[in-house]
Amino acid sequence: MTQTFPSLPLIGVEDARAVVLEHTHPMSTEHVALIESLGRVLAKDVASDIDISPFDNTAMDGFAVRFEDFAAAPPSENSPLTLSIIGIIGAGAVYEGTVQKGQALRIMTGAPLPEGADTIVKIEDTTVHGESPEHPEGQQVAFTHMPKQGQHIRPKGEEARKGEVLLRAGERVSAPGVGLLASTGNTEVAVYRRPRVAIISTGSELVDVSRVPGPGQIRNSNSYSLAAATLEAGAIPIIMPSVEDSRDTLVKALSTAAVEHDFIITSGGAAQGDYDFITPVVEEMGELFFNKVNMKPGKAQTFGIVNGIPLFGLPGNPAAASVGFEILIRPALKKMQGIAALSRPITKAVLTRAVKKREERRFYLRARIAQNEGGSGSGAYYVTPETNQSSALLGALKSSNCLLIVPEGPEPLAEGALVDCLRLDMEEGTV
Ligand code: AMP
Ligand code: MG
Repeated sequence: MTQTFPSLPLIGVEDARAVVLEHTHPMSTEHVALIESLGRVLAKDVASDIDISPFDNTAMDGFAVRFEDFAAAPPSENSPLTLSIIGIIGAGAVYEGTVQKGQALRIMTGAPLPEGADTIVKIEDTTVHGESPEHPEGQQVAFTHMPKQGQHIRPKGEEARKGEVLLRAGERVSAPGVGLLASTGNTEVAVYRRPRVAIISTGSELVDVSRVPGPGQIRNSNSYSLAAATLEAGAIPIIMPSVEDSRDTLVKALSTAAVEHDFIITSGGAAQGDYDFITPVVEEMGELFFNKVNMKPGKAQTFGIVNGIPLFGLPGNPAAASVGFEILIRPALKKMQGIAALSRPITKAVLTRAVKKREERRFYLRARIAQNEGGSGSGAYYVTPETNQSSALLGALKSSNCLLIVPEGPEPLAEGALVDCLRLDMEEGTV
């Protein structure tokens, strides 16, 4: 059967991205247990409910002393200053008395600074005269060096003041972030739900990974590379059975996928061959926004809505599918998680070899960027594209840490040109 294809214009990458983002929305929110918030995206700003630390405390094991005792009789090796030890406290205890002139309190890291004292001298810089370190009351401690007034004291509120916002909505929670949530009393944390993403590979040539391909067959690698990329983007991939190249089977698979999923990704069958059914089926079942994007690899990028669910149809060639995911799907999955930063950093780099170009399309070349170390031009970035840019090859993408952006238009790039590199090795929002 000869097909008729929706005739939509070729659109630019930024326009395509804007259309996808316009039709994807942040998920609802849920509460998860504190430890489960790791890697999740905060739905609310988190402010501190207390001062952290709630009191001035010592950063060292040693003695809490009054600086004025030292100022009055600056100690040296030859004439040490000797103070009377009035007690000992560890973290968790509060010393009820006051450190008076001529006195010192033995104190352990984390214990509150006692009344009267304003300086800590660490234990290594003191000599205790007496037999019983656990019961030093009444013994003497000698100092031979002048401390700095206020040294080794961690002030109250150093980490945070009560009411201060420590974590912001739209921020992904890191391990130190979990610690801050703990310090501020959050046993549960409000986060965005992770979108459930149905992944469907299409192609009658596809066989399961567990099988050795027969004549004309290939293993379905896209379902797995795309599921992995979905996980990396913070969403939940659900690999659906792959679909043969038939209109009816595709309609059934998309109807199933549009239930209990928040986004559908297909691969293959997105161009205009006799066995490519994605764009006519999406148009028939819902709304089709574009089916050709001015980029290489992968012009056949399709986006639409099926049964109310956004659907992105990637090309089947593995590298084209992965690059399409990176450029046009990943930002949408991030937005759905409530993440504020949607773009990875771009680094300017010097091209180490010329790039030929005749086509109009924007190229995303698989490439390696590195910073020059030592010598002249130290610190400058250089970028080298992979020799084989075939859209069928995953290996070249695996060895790349960036996508070198060659602008639209037929102009080649000369060796030494300054080019933009999209950093696959850096998260969105990093600088
Ligand atoms: P298509 O976009 O369907 O024309 O497919 C383009 C190329 O990608 C063909 O060589 C397919 O065999 C290959 N391909 C399609 N789907 C997959 C898949 N799931 N895994 C690996 N290769 C695929
Ligand atoms: Mg195909």
